[in-house]
Amino acid sequence: MSVERRPPCLPSQEPDLVDRIADLKRARNAVILAHNYQLPEVQDIADFTGDSLELSRKAAGAEADVIVFCGVRFMAETAKILSPNRVVLLPDPRAGCPLADMITADQLRAFKAQHPGLPVVAYVNTSAEVKAESDICCTSANAVRMVEAMDSDSVLFIPDKCLGTYVASKTSKRIILYPGYCPTHHRILVEDVVREKQEHPEAVVVAHPECTMDVIELADAVESTSGMLRYTRGSDAKEFIICTERGLLHRLRKDNPAKVFYNPCRLNICPNMKKITLEKVFWSLEDMRPTIEIAPDVIERAKKAIDGMLAV
Ligand code: SF4
Repeated sequence: MSVERRPPCLPSQEPDLVDRIADLKRARNAVILAHNYQLPEVQDIADFTGDSLELSRKAAGAEADVIVFCGVRFMAETAKILSPNRVVLLPDPRAGCPLADMITADQLRAFKAQHPGLPVVAYVNTSAEVKAESDICCTSANAVRMVEAMDSDSVLFIPDKCLGTYVASKTSKRIILYPGYCPTHHRILVEDVVREKQEHPEAVVVAHPECTMDVIELADAVESTSGMLRYTRGSDAKEFIICTERGLLHRLRKDNPAKVFYNPCRLNICPNMKKITLEKVFWSLEDMRPTIEIAPDVIERAKKAIDGMLAV
């Protein structure tokens, strides 16, 4: 059932919505996780904010019966893989990731058949079924290390060709790319960064490796979302141009009130990330759905790929 069919009984202006979510969360013994790209008001009610793997590991360590994952589907699936006996709620079942959806398990099997014997390094932005067909997972922070850990001179890298191209520039291994990409990071153009840099010449440019290579080449630092949080906190610089989904700026500004963060682009909004609203968080806790369900054999095989990464 789509959560959209429910009447808007709790408009976001309702002052006690946040309190009612907190009450329900306690009653359900739930933990609320929000990705760094979520709407500010959703980030603000979360027990933990962070990147997808960081959040799933937090959830696995928490003593909650229910995990409300404010993010996109592959993230909620990762939480389910790491906590298979808990209820995992994704407040809007339509919140998918276009990058993850660019490769299915069938397409991966066909890709592997074209390159027999080569190991598959799968970016965490993939479905549970695709992870189950992969040798090891990686995040944007550890992709180079995972590729180098493979016992082969050549690896298949899925699904993000931008991250894969960046990794290829950092390793001597041969990377065979799959042609996926993140539409949101693709909207950040070189012209945007150049213009922003002209307006703020002192600002440090920090880019996510899902950006295109020409943007990455302009960056002073290339970091995952968690890496950007650490980098900006530890830097002596006072101004930063942040090349990723704009939701991260909320957290950066909260964490660093004395520093200034510039968003280089008007179009770097991931519409799927913004599908989760406070109302949907409330409804999901009230109805205990939509839940994430994954076949046990898929969980088992996908977990091997994630565990392989954690072991490295
Ligand atoms: Fe997927 Fe890109 Fe949106 Fe992240 S920002 S969820 S990679 S489409």
